[in-house]
Amino acid sequence: MAAGSLVEVRGLRKRYGYYAALDGIDLDIREGEVFGYVGPNGAGKTTTLKVMAGLIGKFEGAVAIAGVQVTRDRSETHALIGYLPQSAGFQSWRTVESALRSLGALSRVPASVVEQRMDELLERFQLGQARGRKIRQLSGGMTRKLGLIQALLHRPRLLILDEPLEGLDPASRALLKEVIRERQRDGATVLFSSHILGDVQDVADRVGVLCDGKMVTTGSIRELVAEVDLPLEIGVEFSTPPGQTAFLSEGPALAGATQVGRGVWSVRLREGTGPAAADDAIHALVEQTLHHGGRLRRIAAAEPNLDQLFARLIERARAAGRPS
Ligand code: ATP
Repeated sequence: MAAGSLVEVRGLRKRYGYYAALDGIDLDIREGEVFGYVGPNGAGKTTTLKVMAGLIGKFEGAVAIAGVQVTRDRSETHALIGYLPQSAGFQSWRTVESALRSLGALSRVPASVVEQRMDELLERFQLGQARGRKIRQLSGGMTRKLGLIQALLHRPRLLILDEPLEGLDPASRALLKEVIRERQRDGATVLFSSHILGDVQDVADRVGVLCDGKMVTTGSIRELVAEVDLPLEIGVEFSTPPGQTAFLSEGPALAGATQVGRGVWSVRLREGTGPAAADDAIHALVEQTLHHGGRLRRIAAAEPNLDQLFARLIERARAAGRPS
């Protein structure tokens, strides 16, 4: 096992008939990190997570969790993992608390500890009132929260969460992100898939981008941004607009400007403009504003647009995979 890796995936291939849902994936997830798994629909995220959770028996390659091969000793890895599937298959006739009690017993957590953690988690996820209700009577979001609680109940070393933020209201999303950070502070490792890139940026230390069963890249968002030449933009807001605005698109590094609101402009920089040239451009825009009698309320380089970032990475991977 590579030093510091809790999860080690080598040459993972999963075929359905002739179709390779996973086409040779290598991945290391370090102990104690929060890892976001992203990629377009059908990329193979759920398949990867299911393999790790021991739910897919037949695959090629090697998947080890804490040094234990997933296929050979599922019972051992089972205790290490808390898994939230994309759609949790609870026994719908059970009540919330009876389902959690029996899942706690399966994970070999002492009954008194299950009771205490169940109380705490049900309260935190605002399901306290629903503890006596049958699972089939819960709303979609409530069932999702129940799935999260069952994944957290035995305080696993590795949390594998398949689209955990999907279907949650904004307050519950914020709560879940807080819980993920909390588990990380307690030493757990978290792997989660998501299409909500802002949430991924909020909690993930590193991200893996999957496309058509292949890993496109892994790294922190900052590293991925550096990997791709994204069009940089500068947001400008005037409290008093200058006498003329032509200078917003007339500089060596500037590629054009669009007015996006009253006194608010978005200035595009030429592709390949580095951070130093972007700083020079901001400086020049401030000087020109003053020169033309304007006053600024705000001027700043815009945050990289994550949708654009991932679209570029996927586009690049697909172009590289296409026969020329
Ligand atoms: P999404 O973001 O839509 O949830 P995903 O990245 O999780 O997608 P997977 O669910 O892993 O993607 O599916 C990867 C590919 O494998 C898809 O093309 C899917 O149709 C195929 N696939 C998944 N399960 C099966 C199955 N049981 N039989 C045949 N094909 C399957």
